[in-house]
Amino acid sequence: MSIPVPPQQTESPYAAGESPYGAGAPYQPDPTQPHCRFCGSVPAADVTVRGHQGFLVMMKFLRLPGPFCRDCGTATVRRMTANSLWQGWWGLASALINPFTMLMNLVTWLKLRKLAPPAPGAPGTPLPVGRPLYLRPQILGLLIPVVAVGAIVYSAKQDPDFATAGDCVHNSGTAFSPDVSVVDCGGPDAQYKVLGRVESSSDTACAAFPDRVASYVVTRGSSSYSLCLARLGGN
Ligand SMILES: [Zn+2]
Repeated sequence: MSIPVPPQQTESPYAAGESPYGAGAPYQPDPTQPHCRFCGSVPAADVTVRGHQGFLVMMKFLRLPGPFCRDCGTATVRRMTANSLWQGWWGLASALINPFTMLMNLVTWLKLRKLAPPAPGAPGTPLPVGRPLYLRPQILGLLIPVVAVGAIVYSAKQDPDFATAGDCVHNSGTAFSPDVSVVDCGGPDAQYKVLGRVESSSDTACAAFPDRVASYVVTRGSSSYSLCLARLGGN
């Protein structure tokens, strides 16, 4: 009596179109290789998909470990990255972390797309991969950091704290309660030209500028500065 010897496995155990689980045989996962966590099919890559959510002062790091087959992995990368494109920017730290989260998903996706299509015969159906990210409305989330940086730069340009000699300013408040902003020197709002900035709030801070007609003094705690101002056009 002879013991049947199992056939030797070749490098690629499955013929094209053949089920890796045996023709008509019940699903028997091979413990030596990873199976997709969603549909159970092979081949699957043991990778992790990430997401990020910012909540101004708090943040959430999302991670979904595999293994994933090519299709379930692609669907998951697209879904979690799309969510991060909207939810990942809200907070200073989050805005810095979110691009790295999405770059890590890009690396994960590059690994997943090298996989062969999920072999048939798995217990579950692979997830539909859905539309690519650039065709989803969430791709507009990439504009959020661009708009935020633009708004910060724009408000900094108007902030008298950053005014230097040669800038022009407009006071939309009163002499006693000034509301000064930096404006375009050629624009209709320009009232005064900044002759210089002195790191002092004393009455003589602008003594070095004989042309000055006004000064704008800001004191915050122990630090203060004066903008020495001349009337525009000399009238
Ligand atoms: Zn799958």
